[in-house]
Amino acid sequence: MVRVKSVIEGSIAQEIGIAAGTELVSVNGRELADFLDWEFLSADDELVIEAREPGGELVVYEIERPEGEPMGIELEPPTIRRCANRCEFCFIEGLPKGLRKSLYVRDDDYRLSFAYGNFATLSNLKDRDIARILEYRLSPLYISVHATPWEARKILLNNPRVPNIVEQLTRLAEGGIQFHGQMVIVPGLNDGEVLEQSMRDLWSFGDAVLSVAIVPVGLTQFSHLYTGTPMDRDNAEGLLRSVDRWAERARAERGESWVYGSDELYLLAERPLPPAEYYGDFPQIENGVGAVASLRMRVREGLATLPRLEGRRIGVVTGVSMAGIMPELLDVLSESTGARFEMIVTTNSLFGTTTTTAGLLVGADIQRALETRHDLDIALIPAECINDNGVFLDDEPFIAVRERLPMPVYPSYDFIDVLTLEGAPHAGEAAA
Ligand code: SF4
Repeated sequence: MVRVKSVIEGSIAQEIGIAAGTELVSVNGRELADFLDWEFLSADDELVIEAREPGGELVVYEIERPEGEPMGIELEPPTIRRCANRCEFCFIEGLPKGLRKSLYVRDDDYRLSFAYGNFATLSNLKDRDIARILEYRLSPLYISVHATPWEARKILLNNPRVPNIVEQLTRLAEGGIQFHGQMVIVPGLNDGEVLEQSMRDLWSFGDAVLSVAIVPVGLTQFSHLYTGTPMDRDNAEGLLRSVDRWAERARAERGESWVYGSDELYLLAERPLPPAEYYGDFPQIENGVGAVASLRMRVREGLATLPRLEGRRIGVVTGVSMAGIMPELLDVLSESTGARFEMIVTTNSLFGTTTTTAGLLVGADIQRALETRHDLDIALIPAECINDNGVFLDDEPFIAVRERLPMPVYPSYDFIDVLTLEGAPHAGEAAA
């Protein structure tokens, strides 16, 4: 069902009388199953929209709209397609109990893969879904491949009914769909020859595969399904050697690295991270691939825009995984601004000490790290640990945590964003 959540003031939709709560039934004679149908079918300028008003009455709107003018309709969120797998390494299975419900939704939805870049395994894909992907040209998609050999993939996804991914990808590629792939590697299951075969298969799809990320299995203390061994330094080093080989071939034949190890993989292998140039357009930065290189680049490029901040004391809260990388950045910032930066490394109280990512720190961690630091003028915290609604993973609103702390606190993506805008007040001065 496709239902209107809200209508923009002054829009075409408002003008013709579409209101919140209206169900959109069909467009130009085609029934709407979901937001994708609406988005693609309503792209015409001449529309016959059949709708059911909130009171139940069926109405038909005939619209001729000026070219390109949006209808002005926001839809209610779609019903998310759930995952049919039970991967041992599933991050959601590794969440502690008691968090907000939405965090436990195991989505596996090709529509969200196209719309938001969420990775999907395609395990629940039906023929009609593939037909829709091809018809609407949903490209690029983000696909959790993990392994192309069928038997290995069944084990990894813990799902004997998983379809053959090579056949699925072949149909998509032949239909002109491109995709980014990721392989979450579980030692002993999809490294070694399984990885090599997977890389050969993905390479054989040519331009259809835009990039591949190799990501080490990430576990928390609550990952109760996992029976394998965690990834260690040697595993990570072995994976990076494969990445290097394939990336070298890709650079020679395609002019780009094409396959990338995630930042976490380099940290596990205790290897230096590649420079920003290695990542091209950073095709999988949201997947933790090249995030550190991008941060270094943004800091370097932003230095000239920073004000002088002599005498300021600035605390920077981060996770354990950034402890080896942060000092060099803070030194450069200090040199450029005259401020004194202090790295405050914080462990994760919700997921446990094995979870070291800065972006997963929770409100309680931030509070613990900063509540006694009356000496700081301001503190920066990782912006990634707060969602779009301003809430940490432990449901603490950012503004509530901020009010309990003795200094102004700012979520920051790259230091430059905050330091440029705020000019970093001294301790005791009011935050903007
Ligand atoms: S595909 Fe696997 S990792 Fe992803 S949500 Fe499903 S069970 Fe979890």
